[in-house]
Amino acid sequence: MSHDSKKTAAELLELREQFVARGVFQVTPTVAASAEGAALTDVDGKSYIDFAGGLGVANAGHCPPAVVKAIQEQAATMLHSCFHVAMYEGYIELIKRLAEITPGDFPKKGMLANSGAEAVDNAIKIARAYTGRQAIICFEGAFHGRTMMGLSLTSKVTYKAGFGPFCGEVYRMPYAYDYRSPVGTSHNFESACAGLLEEMFRSHVAPGEVAAVIIEPVLGEGGFVAPGSKYFQEIKAHCQRHDILLIADEVQTGFGRTGRMFAMEHHEVEPDMILLGKSLAAGLPLSAVIGRSEIMDAPHVGGLGGTFGGNPVACQAALAIIELMEAPGFMERAAALGENLKARFLQFQEQFEMVGAVRGLGAMMAMELVSDRAEKTPAPAWADAVVQKCHANGLLLIKAGNYGNVIRALPPLVITDEELEKAFQILENAFAEVSAS
Ligand code: PLP
Repeated sequence: MSHDSKKTAAELLELREQFVARGVFQVTPTVAASAEGAALTDVDGKSYIDFAGGLGVANAGHCPPAVVKAIQEQAATMLHSCFHVAMYEGYIELIKRLAEITPGDFPKKGMLANSGAEAVDNAIKIARAYTGRQAIICFEGAFHGRTMMGLSLTSKVTYKAGFGPFCGEVYRMPYAYDYRSPVGTSHNFESACAGLLEEMFRSHVAPGEVAAVIIEPVLGEGGFVAPGSKYFQEIKAHCQRHDILLIADEVQTGFGRTGRMFAMEHHEVEPDMILLGKSLAAGLPLSAVIGRSEIMDAPHVGGLGGTFGGNPVACQAALAIIELMEAPGFMERAAALGENLKARFLQFQEQFEMVGAVRGLGAMMAMELVSDRAEKTPAPAWADAVVQKCHANGLLLIKAGNYGNVIRALPPLVITDEELEKAFQILENAFAEVSAS
């Protein structure tokens, strides 16, 4: 029986209800048929501007031609051999390239996996093997994926409810969330927040038992909170003082999203391990752990791997992505997009009382919605209403934040000026309608 691609969105939604487990969530009821650049078309022919970028995967746009070509060529040559059974050049070449472009002027090695969460799990295994210590420190507002370790490190209860018990030896501290400060009105905000790590060592876990601190340079799911360089530099210094590894989870911030290839470049911080995923292979499932060679070599032979990790087609896609992003002008365009987003969002903040905060780094920009600016009362229902109105008018948008009140923008970095202006118009109209209701 051949695959029937002529069903309407309504028919497919009905089938989805019948056959797909309800826990597999949908942000919007869109049923996609095709996508190109920053545009997505549904099965009924309606087009959208994609401000979700396939959940941060389409930094280079949907279906970049050079990447599609690389995929097609590799697919016609060899789909899979399993790197543990028969090695192939793409896997080795990709890690070499990632070692070259990630922050840190020291010898590096790496491994490939399938998802961001798997990269997280592997990094924790590697950190424990290297240090001989067990504890991991993570942050409030963090999202590190949906495997049991990823979920244990993740902060949002919506994702965790009913799934415990979680992994042991996970300790959580506040993140430098300036809008809702964990250190009151300290005028040395970033140092005070980084200093909370020493407080952890007094109150929760001895530093000599901590293998690693895992941190997102910008909270992704946590609402695009983007502390300054001082925070990360001081976290790194505290880690170094106690021989604790610093793991940067750049699954969402990596590959141009913040206007640099990796967000830690803004802060001149060299993490001991960096985790990559999402836009790494333009939509093919691929993730990576890259780190100091001596750390990466700590696990025994056979301790790392998996059937599909570093699939040859995905590796070729990633190599093409790196080439594309290293081409002159790409990062400049990403940085300019970030400036545009910020300027317009700040304008929205002036126009609409409900926009309590505008923040982010590069083209990873968000607005936190509140029903009372003085009290900073989270307004998740208004955020929902804005997202739904945008969806109705052709803009795909997603929320973030532990209160579900943050509108986040992750548009493909190749979005055209016309598409961007149209998206802003849709967003402005949605704010106006929700404000008036
Ligand atoms: N880490 C971060 C910072 C993420 O944003 C995500 C996904 O949103 C993950 C890890 C998990 O990635 P995946 O969904 O590919 O497992």
